This record gives sequence, structure tokens and C-alpha cells, in this order.
Amino acid sequence: MRYALRIIVTGIVQGVGFRPFIHRIALANGLHGYVKNIGGSEVEIWIEGAQEHYAGFIRDLYFRKPPPAVIEEVEIYFEKPRGYTSFSILKSEKDRIKYSMIPPDLGICEHCLREILDPRDRRYRYAFNSCAWCGPRYSMMYTIPYDRENTSMRKYSLCRDCLKEYNDIYNVRRYHAQGISCPRDGPRLWLIDSNGEVIGVNDPIREAAKLIDEGYIVAVKGLGGYHIAALASDDDVVLKLRRRKNRPSKPFAVMVLDIGVLEKLVFIDNKARVLLESPQKPILLLRKKPDTPVSRYVSPGLVYEGVFLPYTGLHYLLLMETSDRFLIMTSGNRRGKPMCINEDCAYRELGGIVDYFLVHDREIVNRVDDSVIRFTCGRPVLLRRGRGYAPLWIRVPFKLSSKYIAFGSDLQTAAAIGFDDKIVLTQYIGDADDYDVLLDMDRYVRFLAKNYGVDIGSAVLVVDKHPNYSSRRLAESLAMEYGNRIVEVQHHVAHVLSTASDHGVYGRIIGVAVDGVGYGDDGALWGGEVLEINMYSGSYRRLGHLEYQPLVGDRSVYYPIRFFLSVLSKRLSYEEIIDLVRRREFYRCVEGGYREIEILLKSIERNMYTDTSSTGRLLDGVSAFLGVSTYRSYEGEPAIKLESFASNGSYINDHLEPGIMVINGEYVIGTTDLYLELIDLVDLFRKEDLALTFQYNIGRALGEIVYNVIKGRRNIINSKIFLGGGAAVNDYIVSGIMDLLRQYGIEVVLPSKIPVNDGGIALGQIVYADILNR
Ligand SMILES: [Zn+2]
Ligand SMILES: [Zn+2]
Repeated sequence: MRYALRIIVTGIVQGVGFRPFIHRIALANGLHGYVKNIGGSEVEIWIEGAQEHYAGFIRDLYFRKPPPAVIEEVEIYFEKPRGYTSFSILKSEKDRIKYSMIPPDLGICEHCLREILDPRDRRYRYAFNSCAWCGPRYSMMYTIPYDRENTSMRKYSLCRDCLKEYNDIYNVRRYHAQGISCPRDGPRLWLIDSNGEVIGVNDPIREAAKLIDEGYIVAVKGLGGYHIAALASDDDVVLKLRRRKNRPSKPFAVMVLDIGVLEKLVFIDNKARVLLESPQKPILLLRKKPDTPVSRYVSPGLVYEGVFLPYTGLHYLLLMETSDRFLIMTSGNRRGKPMCINEDCAYRELGGIVDYFLVHDREIVNRVDDSVIRFTCGRPVLLRRGRGYAPLWIRVPFKLSSKYIAFGSDLQTAAAIGFDDKIVLTQYIGDADDYDVLLDMDRYVRFLAKNYGVDIGSAVLVVDKHPNYSSRRLAESLAMEYGNRIVEVQHHVAHVLSTASDHGVYGRIIGVAVDGVGYGDDGALWGGEVLEINMYSGSYRRLGHLEYQPLVGDRSVYYPIRFFLSVLSKRLSYEEIIDLVRRREFYRCVEGGYREIEILLKSIERNMYTDTSSTGRLLDGVSAFLGVSTYRSYEGEPAIKLESFASNGSYINDHLEPGIMVINGEYVIGTTDLYLELIDLVDLFRKEDLALTFQYNIGRALGEIVYNVIKGRRNIINSKIFLGGGAAVNDYIVSGIMDLLRQYGIEVVLPSKIPVNDGGIALGQIVYADILNR
């Protein structure tokens, strides 16, 4: 019997040259039919002809696909042949396409790179080279679908040679590739001085590299925004940049020409290498080599360096011309502001920071920050989800009962929209307490809503429970305009649901949130919680948490020794604390000296504090006590440095093991005693060992609570627990939890598609709001 095949392919199959590829393999196998897009992440293929060639076609489909394409699922149906006499790419029927997925940006591929390094190629030294397999996508899209006329490439019309490539079906990488260009017809570059004057040079890239080598700081317009480029090897330059950027110690990312150079800076294993060279080309936090040529001021107090490879021709050519072949490439923004994406912003905001500007005339439509990944217990975890990953949608294992817009939290956050069985997170937005960042959140929420047919007026808005978050005010202003309903979600419930949903899990689950702070149901600031959540009913219960400790004002966040002393005040007398402050010179760790400490202790006496079970604050306090970090100049700094500090430590047996009490039916990890024990041990053990043991044992204690509640239960997904929160990347805490639970066969799960911190919280927010909405 003769039959045709109808094949539905699901995955990342749009914006990556997939349909032209299908066209080609159909011809190669002598088959007729068509290929067309039928959904945001699906294509339909019809083949008929010599049946003995079908197998060859299917094999090619899997093994010769464009490198950035991802095939998730292939369904094959046997059909009656229709008598096609050729193979064609059908225009997508507009009404059949529900949503076309917005493709993320792709780092330059090896073929495009080879072309710009080849003096005989017509794209030699061309900074904007791209093909069907690489180049900007989301960052240059005005709207869906991804066609040239919907991108900022539309103003460059193809020259004769490019047009020929575009129409040549045998041109594997350029046939129907939307973003292609060449030196004759593509974007141009200029070098501009601090007065806004164009510097007349033949090769702006070579000149910019020379200036950077001389110690100047140069703003570079890239793919998703501006970078600030500077020598990473020169202490004076790094310190100059820190002064100008008002950024005392937050680490800078370092872009490195290639793996060969990278190996001098950091340790790379195969896992890291695969990620670094992937089309997403993220920033990866990797352990520094002891003899690294990078200045210690680039990432002070940390054992990790944030490194990445050039992801455009422009970056590659620039690095190639410098003598170091690695450079600081940090976001081009002023502190707390969004990264600049156009010249107006760059001249206004970066004028006081940089000496020169390397700019081009391709418009950056959507700001996309570099993505950041680290390894926690050997697994890659997203810290920031931007270029390469956003705005890929995440499928949930059920159909949402409404449309949703979720607003995330406040710091380092992202928003999201939800429809059908899809939740789309915006790219990393930033700290929403800045008005310009908040406007950005509004903008990208509207962009996604418009392109995915989510009518803002009829969407349910989802916010964090915290009454004072700026992101919440954005939701409230939309509700005022459109009259929407607003649903509140507890911060850590959202964290745990985000992780579960990232893995497509649905059911009764147990999770652990190890976090900075989130507004708790009892008005306390939570951040070290074991939660059980019933995803069928939306009910949840806190099973355990870190002991509540007094937090006196925001100052105790910035000067964490205040938190440490606040905890002691529960057990030690005023005189004992002052004596400790004198002996260990803690008066140096606050701005107001003894006077400030007196006021602090008085405030606690008068109950002027908020209870908190925050893991972040607890670690910050230890960091200050051990003298690792006594002032927080960026989010998480004391705890992050404590983790780095512990990396040279060893585990101390039989010490710093917290007691677990049961209070009001909840397990509570006693942390006051741990702090007191630290004081007794600090002169007996290495501080590194104390730091490691403290963190690891907090993890073990959390794991113990999980085990206590899980044993003997049946109706929960009890072979897995879900971790969330900003401290859920801490190697020692996570391995503490994992080690304890592994012996009982319980697996600890971290998210893989979204950040584990507040950058991923919007996913869980929508899932929870939908549970309540049914
Ligand atoms: Zn390419
Ligand atoms: Zn051309």
C-alpha cells in the first residue's frame, strides 16, 4: 500500500533555519510535499514519493538538523498520498498559527566566525555577520513572527550577493535566513569621543582596542545592549572603573577571546566548556586559577570569575585586537538603572563613566542582558536569565483557566505572562525599586502580552504578598486602568512552585525555600522554610523554619554584624555583648560605633524589630562575625563571600549542629545557639572550617525536617523535594540538604530553565494563581 507521512515536530524549530532545512532534505531524498509552521513551536511536514526514502528523510531530520534547533517530539501519521509533484515551504496560514514563539538570540556560530577571519571571504572582518543558525533574534524584533520586516534589519536592503544567497536553496545557512547582511549592505560602526564627536578612523574596532589597551574605558554597543569594556588585567583601570561606576566590589564579567585564553584564567571541565560554547554563550562562574592574570579587583573576595566567550563578530574582532585577549565586559548602565540600548541613553548615562563609545546603527529593540549561570553541587543553575534563554516559554502540565500577568518580586526580578499551557517569563528585568527599571518591566510585559494575544484588561494580575514591593504598585496601576483582579502569592510558595513547574511536576509537593527575605503569612520575614503545598487545592502548610530572629531596620541588612548582635541579645546581657564588641572590635563594623550598637540593643528591648527566619540574614551575620564581609554593597554580598571563603575549609565533626525543636506544630531550627557556639569556637578552629561547617549543617537540619515529615507519608510526591530561593545556590547548604536526604532515597531538585532566585518566581506565581482560580 502506498502512503504519505504527515510529521509534526515540536521544539525549537522557528528562527533557526528549520523549514529551509526540511526543504533541502526532502529534495535530497527525492520526496514531495510541504513544510509549514502550525504553532509557536511546531512545524508540520508532509512527504510522499518513493517510500524507501522515508527512512533516510527521518534520519536526516534527526542527525542533520541545524545546530541551534531542538527537537523535543516527533509525531508521525500515515496518510493517503495527495499527488504532490514538488516540495514547498508553505506560508503559515495566519489563523491557524496561534502563537509563534519569539526566538531567543543566538551567539555567533563557528561558520560565521570562520568567514570573518578569512581574508578571502567577502565578509572578512564584518562585525555583524550572521546566518540561519546564529545572530540576534528577540533583541531586534518589533513583533512576531520572526521575519526580516518585523526586525530592525528591515532598513538594510539585501545587496545582490546577499539576495542570491537568500534565494539559493543549497545555501544551507543563508537560504531564507531573515537577519543576513554583509559589509556592503549591513549596519555600520563608528567610534565617538566623550564630546560626541565622530573620530575619523578606517577601522573603529581596531582603534577602540588600541584605546582600551592604553587604559581607556570604552562603551560598546552590542547585541542586547551596551557593555562597558576595560582592561581586566590592570588594577588601576579596574579601580578607576569602580570609582566611576560607583560600584565598590560587585564583580565584573570578563569576556575572553577563546577557550585557549580562558584556560589561563579559570578551571574548565567539559560541562563548563559545552555551556560556554553553546549558542546561548552565557556568563559562567568558574573557579579562578591561582596565577590568573585578571586583577583581583575584578571579583574581590570571590573564588569565582564570571567569564564568557564573544557572542558576536564585533566582540570577537575587538578582543582579537587587544593585547590581553580578555576584557571586562560589564553592563553599560549606571548603578541600579537598566542597561542602555540606544545612543541617547549611552551618552547621558555612561558619559561620566567611559572615555569613548563604539556604536553602530542597528537599533536594539529589546534590551537583553547577558545570562549568568553557576554550578551548585555540580549542576548548572541560572542566576540571571537573559540573552539566549529569554523569552522561551515554559510549558506547564495543565491548561491555565485564564490569562495571567505576574509581576515577580522586587530585586533582580522578571515578570511573566501565562496563557494556554504556556508561561513566558520576560528577560531579566533588574531591581524594580528603580523607576526606569519598573518602566522596563511594564514595557516587556506589554510586549509579550501583545504578541501572545493576552488582553491586559481580561488578565488576572499576580503579585507578591509584600505590601511595599514596587512591582506590586505596577500591577495596581494596571488594575486601576483596566479593573483587573489581583491575586497575592506568598513569596516562598511561589519559589517552590517555580521549581516544581520548571520540571513539569503537579501534585502534592514538599519544598524548601532558602532565601533572603519574603513577606510571610504571619507578617514575619520568611526565608528559611519547609513548605508542603497541595497543587490540587492551593492549600499549603509551613512544616518547619529557621528560628525567628530580630531584624532591626534596613541598616542591619547593610551592616550584618548588627544582625549577629541582635540574635545574641536574646541570650546575653547588655554588658556581655558590649564586652564582645570591644574584644572583637565590632564597633568598627558599623558606622556609628558603640553608640549605634547601644541604640540597636535598646530597640530590641523595646520590641522595635521584625522577626525573620531568613537564611540570607543568618549567613550574613556569620560572614560579619568571621570578618569575611561586614558591609553589603550588592545584594547577597556577605553570604556570597562567606560561601567563597568556605571553599578552603574542612568539615568539623560534632560542632555547630543545630537543635531542632517543635513549636506550635512546626519544626524550628535553633540558630541562637549556633551563634553562641561560634563565639566559643572562633579562636579554636580555622575560620574557613567554621564557615563551611555552619552552612553545611544548616542544610542538613533543613533536610532533617524534610525527612521527619516525609517518612510514613504516601500521598505526596515523596521521592523529590523542590528547592527555591536566592540561597538555594549555596553549595554547602544545598549539599547539606542533598547528603542528608540521599540516604533515604529522596532527590533534591533545582530548576533548570529558570533562575532559582527571584528571577524565576513569576512562574510559580502564575501556577499558584491558576490553582486558586479554578
Ligand atoms: Zn552563523
Ligand atoms: Zn549583502
